[in-house]
Amino acid sequence: MLKNILHTPMHPQKRPLNTFFIRTYGCQMNELDSEIMVGQLEKRGLKRIDDEDQADLLIFNTCSIRDLAERKVMGKLGQLGRSTTRRSIIGVTGCMAMAKKESLFRKLPHIDFVIGTNNIGDLSNVLDEVVESGRKTIRTDDQFEENLDYLAAKREDPVKAYVSIIRGCDKFCTYCVVPYTRGQEVSRDPQSIVDECRGLVDKGYKEITLLGQNVNSYGKDKPEWNCLFHDLLYKLDKIPGLERIRFMTSHPVDITLQLMEAIRDLPSLCEFVHFPMQAGSNRILKKMHRIYTIEQYLEKVALLRQTVPNVVLGTDIIVGFPTETEEEFQMTYDHFKAIRYSVAFLFAYSARKGTPAFRWKDDIAEEVKHERLQRLLSLYQEICTEERQEMLGKEVEVLVEKRNKDEGQFKGRTRCWKNVLFSGDDRMIGTLQRVKIHGYNHQTLLGEIQNSKFKMQN
Ligand code: SF4
Repeated sequence: MLKNILHTPMHPQKRPLNTFFIRTYGCQMNELDSEIMVGQLEKRGLKRIDDEDQADLLIFNTCSIRDLAERKVMGKLGQLGRSTTRRSIIGVTGCMAMAKKESLFRKLPHIDFVIGTNNIGDLSNVLDEVVESGRKTIRTDDQFEENLDYLAAKREDPVKAYVSIIRGCDKFCTYCVVPYTRGQEVSRDPQSIVDECRGLVDKGYKEITLLGQNVNSYGKDKPEWNCLFHDLLYKLDKIPGLERIRFMTSHPVDITLQLMEAIRDLPSLCEFVHFPMQAGSNRILKKMHRIYTIEQYLEKVALLRQTVPNVVLGTDIIVGFPTETEEEFQMTYDHFKAIRYSVAFLFAYSARKGTPAFRWKDDIAEEVKHERLQRLLSLYQEICTEERQEMLGKEVEVLVEKRNKDEGQFKGRTRCWKNVLFSGDDRMIGTLQRVKIHGYNHQTLLGEIQNSKFKMQN
């Protein structure tokens, strides 16, 4: 394991470690990594607090996926450096730690340690080194070694949990930093995944989201296990009491017929598939190195809809990719309209340092990117509104997640990821309810619990 200790003395008057504050930026994978770090810190006896000014240890678990995400963290960290009274130990973890490595110490001389995405299991050792040696410390291995104590994760949500099944990505889309910040794909042993999920169900969890940068390529790096993604799903579906399984994210190339059949046949597997198109023209898809043509993509969507008629689709789209013409954007728009995605993450392209696309001229004017994004957003809103109208009067299964801010209102999600608000009581949290939809507001369906199916939690 690569281990570096930089021989720069840290601030001489840091106080002993009793409390910590952690802030997470970015995706669900980062949220899970933070939960694992929180578990490690609590095991060492540290107490989590929400007031960063009072904490002895500050951790910023960062994201590099967009320029804006990085600028936010750098701004925050820079601000901490201007404090003349702060004596906390400060650590930067996550994707930005991987992308910027030692240069973070030069830009932000007040930070004490840097831990990359593949080394979060080393947090406790790094802290010991920082405290004992008074030196700045960095761990940023390129490759993930399967030695993480997933069971240490301290989860905040009592109903839904994330479970990591594969880390890294081998696809190398030309705009994406992930293969450089999270390394190659490393699948996790299936038995340890099954054991973790079973343990979560025993603790009362009802819904598990399987996480990976590309969950669909699960098991391909370990042919000796004879367990691909769909095989894993069949194992997990057998766990009694596991009501819902979700997964994210997917690469269209690795979405197989066996996976589609698993979604059709396994009762616990939700009928929602994140199926990122990214762009609608072959020239741009090729430039993005998405390794599929739009015809192949559409064929797979058709096969999925034929296999699982009630499936709901999500997507990611980037508009304004270098050299994208108006006609090419229009193709993205037209395919979006034809497919009618129910969930969409829409972005204007921003160049990321370290990616192949960073070397290309970012030649689409920001106003043009913005205008294309707005057109696509309006289309998406139209589709969402039509879908909400179609839901009126229908009954849906909702997993009750938590109390809403409004008095007496509770929040939950349908199997296909739609938010629903309804009246209830605390005993319903963690139960499945039938809810009849009678309205909607901006982003949420409004409904009423149908008492005939009421399942009380004792
Ligand atoms: S498949 Fe996803 S994570 Fe992997 S390189 Fe492409 S966009 Fe990034």
